[in-house]
Amino acid sequence: MGWFKKSNKKQEADIPDGLFVVCSKCKAHVYKEEFERAFKVCPSCGFHGRLTAQERIDLIVDTGTFREFNTKISTNDPLKFADAKGSYAEKAEQAKAKTGLNEAVVTGSGNIDGIRVVLAVMDFRFLGGSLASGTGEKILLAAEHAIRMKRALVIFSASGGARMHEGIISLMQMAKTCAGISRIDKARLPYISVLTDPTFGGVSASYATVGDINIAEPGALIGFAGRRVIEQTIKEKLPADFQTAEYLLAHGFVDCIVKRAELKNYLHSVLQYSNRKHA
Ligand SMILES: [Zn+2]
Repeated sequence: MGWFKKSNKKQEADIPDGLFVVCSKCKAHVYKEEFERAFKVCPSCGFHGRLTAQERIDLIVDTGTFREFNTKISTNDPLKFADAKGSYAEKAEQAKAKTGLNEAVVTGSGNIDGIRVVLAVMDFRFLGGSLASGTGEKILLAAEHAIRMKRALVIFSASGGARMHEGIISLMQMAKTCAGISRIDKARLPYISVLTDPTFGGVSASYATVGDINIAEPGALIGFAGRRVIEQTIKEKLPADFQTAEYLLAHGFVDCIVKRAELKNYLHSVLQYSNRKHA
């Protein structure tokens, strides 16, 4: 026994900290550098890990072309909300410190293979990518900017849903963001929605699913209420692939599933097509 223990200890000591990451799907040990280089896609099973807003921008937007706007828009606390785990104000401050962001979405303009677009990119690390007054305001302003500049709007969603800490104000953002998107439609500009893991609740029930084209990433979980809540309500067991991008594609809820490595090219082709239609 002692011999094995000694041997294991030596092996562990030879591996520098943080050299490997463990894939949360296939449990393979993957070189962290390789995983990061592939924008957090597991080389062994193709599992798509979650990206931060900045990582998503680095993946999609041409280097040096992104111009962020409305960075000062932040959280509001009209209810002075607090639960057993602390106040919303404290949680918001922690989220800001952790992410370096003021809200759960980053908006700006940038080029996708030379085509200028307006982007809104959600960051799940910020209070679960929840939709609240600041998030909704930034998305609405992005839509208005797209109309002014006559550009397509591309939104990447990653969200647990509406932010309960802002109560009914958060729910109002569903209507507000969709009103902005309907103006994009009236202006005959394309709106592309990319649903990433996870997209739930008030976000999936508003702007994330009203794209001219709704694209999902492989394996992304997308739905309204969570599996457990639905199973308890209907008292039935749901299929294993329920609420996956693949299940939603088979049931006509999304238009296509695009691998992360092909996403930029795919978006460029869609944008090129819509530009041609407008020419
Ligand atoms: Zn894997």
